[in-house]
Amino acid sequence: MGYSLLDKMRKLFEKSGFADCIAEGDKVAVKLHFGEAGNTAFLPPQFARVAVEEIRKAGGKPFLIDTNTLYKGSRGNAIDHLETAMLNGFTYATVGAPVVIGDGLIGRDYVRERLDGKHFSEVKIAAGFHHADAVVNLTHFTAHELFGFGGVLKGIGMGCAAPSGKQEMHSDVLPFVKEAKCTMCGRCYQWCPVDAIVWEEGTVALIVEEKCIGCGECTVACNYGAIAVNWKTDVAVTQEKTAEYAAGALKNKQGKGLFYSFLLNISPDCDCYGFSDPPFAADVGILLSTDPVAIDQAGVDLVNGAQALAGSKLEDLGAKDKLLAVTGIVWEPILEHAERLGLGRRDYHLETVD
Ligand code: SF4
Ligand code: SF4
Repeated sequence: MGYSLLDKMRKLFEKSGFADCIAEGDKVAVKLHFGEAGNTAFLPPQFARVAVEEIRKAGGKPFLIDTNTLYKGSRGNAIDHLETAMLNGFTYATVGAPVVIGDGLIGRDYVRERLDGKHFSEVKIAAGFHHADAVVNLTHFTAHELFGFGGVLKGIGMGCAAPSGKQEMHSDVLPFVKEAKCTMCGRCYQWCPVDAIVWEEGTVALIVEEKCIGCGECTVACNYGAIAVNWKTDVAVTQEKTAEYAAGALKNKQGKGLFYSFLLNISPDCDCYGFSDPPFAADVGILLSTDPVAIDQAGVDLVNGAQALAGSKLEDLGAKDKLLAVTGIVWEPILEHAERLGLGRRDYHLETVD
């Protein structure tokens, strides 16, 4: 009675004991998604403010962070991204902490983190995230067209990667130049680290597939949207790669990570779209864990068990697996691979906090 979601979020933080994991002066990243321009489903800034206040109480120095996107949109570079964040309500005045774009002005500020993965031996983690001492992650749980669901693992794995790392995860097939859009500027040619682009004055660029290592740098370098990203890769592989990126991002945050998953306004698409469709499942509540795998498994189970909402993208209201029904995507691979990587466990124990 009269007990708000913000109160509940704060209570969860207090119960978690995570304040004891924050040392005086720790730089604590509040990792979240500022929402694409036009999207209205993203987590509102009031939740970020609660995290900021609790981190300050614990002696930490909070800052809000996200990274630039791979695709063209309102968050593809730090200038556009900060403007979008501001328009969506994320400013110092509203959240009480600075807003940082972790991979810098154009997504080139990243750290190579080594790991022994199935797909990667190193991943490109946004420097602003890597250098933080701890993370409090705020995830808006949604369905997702590549992952089946957008949860903590996807938010950390994809959301802490530089755009070229996002390209590595998204595509096994190499980028290609759309000739009609190419202005022949040569910028991609200068940036390609392995000389896989053929270009000279007055000609359109051409990517030589045999030489291309799929690093994605050219997709970020081109200012004209002339280098296309192939989104149609094997989604299980993308999910596994994203789990490896999450492992790389959290490698130096052992015992210093707290993960919230907000099962509210559960929309059928991620918050990267410039629109928001109606939720397909009724609100469940707020989850909190220090285990990014357990919290995602719990999120999947709770959303699949939630009341289906008519008038949404979920046509089969009786579907047992709502996420599969909405997206057509099998969501297990990211959880299975994350567990194999030692990021956490899929079995979990749910405790209700009154
Ligand atoms: S993806 Fe990387 S290696 Fe391939 S053409 Fe682009 S910059 Fe060069
Ligand atoms: S950066 Fe883009 S526009 Fe310039 S040459 Fe390369 S593909 Fe063409």
